[in-house]
Amino acid sequence: MIDSLKRRILGNEMLSPFVKDIKFFMKTRRKAPSGTAKKFPTVVQMPITYNCNSKCVMCNIWKMDYSNEMSVEEFSKFLSDPIFSKVEHLGINGGEPSLVKELDQFAFEILKLPNLKSLNIISHGFNRKQLFPFLESVYAKCKEKNIPFHISISLDGYGEVHDRVRGLKVFKLTSLSIKDIHENMNKYCDTFDIGCTVIKQNVDDLIELDVYAQKHDYNIKYRMGIENKRIESDKLKDQYSLLYDGLLQSAKEFFHSRINTANNLYDKFKYFAIYYFLVAKKKERLLGCYWQEEGMTMDSRGDLYYCAVASDKIGSLRETDGKSIFFSDKNIAYRKSIIDNNCNSCIHDYYGKATWKSIKTFVNAMIFEKTWYYKYKLKSIIS
Ligand code: SF4
Repeated sequence: MIDSLKRRILGNEMLSPFVKDIKFFMKTRRKAPSGTAKKFPTVVQMPITYNCNSKCVMCNIWKMDYSNEMSVEEFSKFLSDPIFSKVEHLGINGGEPSLVKELDQFAFEILKLPNLKSLNIISHGFNRKQLFPFLESVYAKCKEKNIPFHISISLDGYGEVHDRVRGLKVFKLTSLSIKDIHENMNKYCDTFDIGCTVIKQNVDDLIELDVYAQKHDYNIKYRMGIENKRIESDKLKDQYSLLYDGLLQSAKEFFHSRINTANNLYDKFKYFAIYYFLVAKKKERLLGCYWQEEGMTMDSRGDLYYCAVASDKIGSLRETDGKSIFFSDKNIAYRKSIIDNNCNSCIHDYYGKATWKSIKTFVNAMIFEKTWYYKYKLKSIIS
């Protein structure tokens, strides 16, 4: 009971909004990272397979080759590389993780990492037969090790809107999984949310999804569908992206409305940062991003990348050790070039410490939102 409480606090679930807000302000930094610091990764994103049985309009991964992916034994060898020695937070995604045979064995290897503080998984949620036994056994192991386990299920609309985005009729199965997890949290995870990617195909229907989430008390997070090299969504941008589309105004209005409805400061800041990005003439990223300095991506063949959005492959653990790849002067210079050339045009909702300047922009905008009406009213009375 006490351990469960501790895990949920570590997983941020049980913190009061006030404590969460203080935590948010404490996790800020004076300057954005330059990308040149040689720090061991503390955050790892792990696409554990390229195999996927969804057919999403904003992603090409389901058309990619998924041969020659690592076995549990090879994975265990990769994780014994010192580059993983400081990893605190690890996220499993894909492809669709539940299509990986022995997924629980992969997760058990991850749970052996010496400094791990949290594990999370993103799934499309409709491979119910494979997903649920995995969730149950991994959560049992997480409890043994006192490591918070978070599940995120992707849901991109209500009913046929979700099916339109996924390219399959799977809303019923996905919503059933969401219901099962939500009603049996003590069996499957410490914390849980729904993730919705906002694109052309759903932007005008999101209120229905939001009402559905509210009605069932589901925690839903929205992110912009963006160009992501790893899943080749950069090649599909005309098909789904709102950034180049007449529906951009709908996206602006939607994210603006989220600022007001978010129930904690971090989410308010995140939605403000997305809104600010959408309205600004000169694009600027206000959100922090751990992948600029201490995040790493490793795929199902041991290939390493800095972030998934903009980074090319920087090397392979099948060929050499992690430190030689992650810290090589050539690759560090490459990471700096990502920061110099890509980050300000990236609105991926990766988290990280925001700069004081970004926080100031946010606070000023919030003050303006709360006071503009009274200012103009006062002005009209005086004049
Ligand atoms: S391009 Fe985006 S995801 Fe990659 S390091 Fe920059 S901000 Fe982070």
